[in-house]
Amino acid sequence: MSSTRVLVLNSGSSSVKYQLLDMRDSSRLAAGLVERIGEETSRLEHTPLHTGGESREWTGTIADHDAALKAVSAELAKDGLGLDSPELAAIGHRVVHGGRRFTEPTVIDDAVLAEIERLIPVAPLHNPANLTGIRTAMALRPDLPQVAVFDTAFHTTMPESAARYAIDVETADAHRIRRYGFHGTSHAYVSRATAKLLGKAPEEVNVIVLHLGNGASASAVRGGRCVDTSMGLTPLEGLVMGTRSGDMDPAVIFHLMRVGGMSADEIDSLLNKKSGLIGLCGDNDMREIRRRVDEGDERAQLAFDIYIHRLKKYIGAYYAVLGKVDAVAFTAGVGENAAPVREAAVAGLEELGLAVDAELNAVRGSEPRLISPEYARVAVAVVPTDEELEIATQTYALVNGSSNLT
Ligand code: AMP
Repeated sequence: MSSTRVLVLNSGSSSVKYQLLDMRDSSRLAAGLVERIGEETSRLEHTPLHTGGESREWTGTIADHDAALKAVSAELAKDGLGLDSPELAAIGHRVVHGGRRFTEPTVIDDAVLAEIERLIPVAPLHNPANLTGIRTAMALRPDLPQVAVFDTAFHTTMPESAARYAIDVETADAHRIRRYGFHGTSHAYVSRATAKLLGKAPEEVNVIVLHLGNGASASAVRGGRCVDTSMGLTPLEGLVMGTRSGDMDPAVIFHLMRVGGMSADEIDSLLNKKSGLIGLCGDNDMREIRRRVDEGDERAQLAFDIYIHRLKKYIGAYYAVLGKVDAVAFTAGVGENAAPVREAAVAGLEELGLAVDAELNAVRGSEPRLISPEYARVAVAVVPTDEELEIATQTYALVNGSSNLT
């Protein structure tokens, strides 16, 4: 029997999200998540997609990641899809930080584990959780190839001029301070899917990808290779996000320390968790912000305007970086769903060849689609992202020794 299934794991500090895919047709067999691991109110939600069955939910204590993965395997086994199945070809793990070294998906061995561990100082929240997930899965299926797919990998093609901060080189290198970028799996998938939508090969087009979710980032992709992205050493830089500030004068931090009497941890929490849209207006969900805007709420309007202003600046910046742009692609929760954001981000950019057709922009759907009028020089597109499919595709291509990226 040939092994064509790939399990994709996205392990957080107290959660595991998973999908099981069959790579013969990229179909989803099952999906689910375990949350609040280590608490008494842990919750597992499992949806058997291949049978179209109902979601199953379980609440209780799931002590650790090992127990979580065993519970997931037990759920999968109920539908004949258990992790001990010979049809499972590999497990693909989302790993947030791969530093400079990991430019491609990589089969995990002891050396790879050690390198992911070495990167913990630059990804203190994410890499330890990712490692726990990997180690647990390796203990469960030591015979199976386990592949790390890095959020940073797609951005390793950035030239030094975009990747370096203009600070003392020795200090930067001593602490591995540079712009790594994140959401790379999504930017890779969406830039390729946008080329496909235009009927072109990725090498033939320049695309600005706007990944607007709760976290948000933009990237400039020239001929399939990333040449700049808005997130930096950490996912704090760049666009205004749900709870993160994005770009800011770094002197704000010294000011808050010296004048505001705040500690580094307090400022870290302020900028990562209490800033962005939630800091500006108390809401981080764009649906709620738009509802308030429609009711004439001034704080929500200001938050929306700041969000759009920053977005527009990045579109302009990446237009200049690329020189020629074939498409601007909106993706993720806000990018795929919030028509007013897309309309406002592109408004007034007709001289750059950018425009949005109001009717096309109002259409909802799960397929990639164009929302620019026919006359526009630059295509504006909505391209739903699919990070799990991208991780599964890269994982399967690696263990299968073939490249079948769609
Ligand atoms: P993500 O991180 O990609 O899952 O995106 C989550 C965010 O997408 C939420 O916080 C909302 O702000 C936004 N979102 C989801 N659905 C909609 C919608 N229908 N309209 C506007 N924003 C939405």
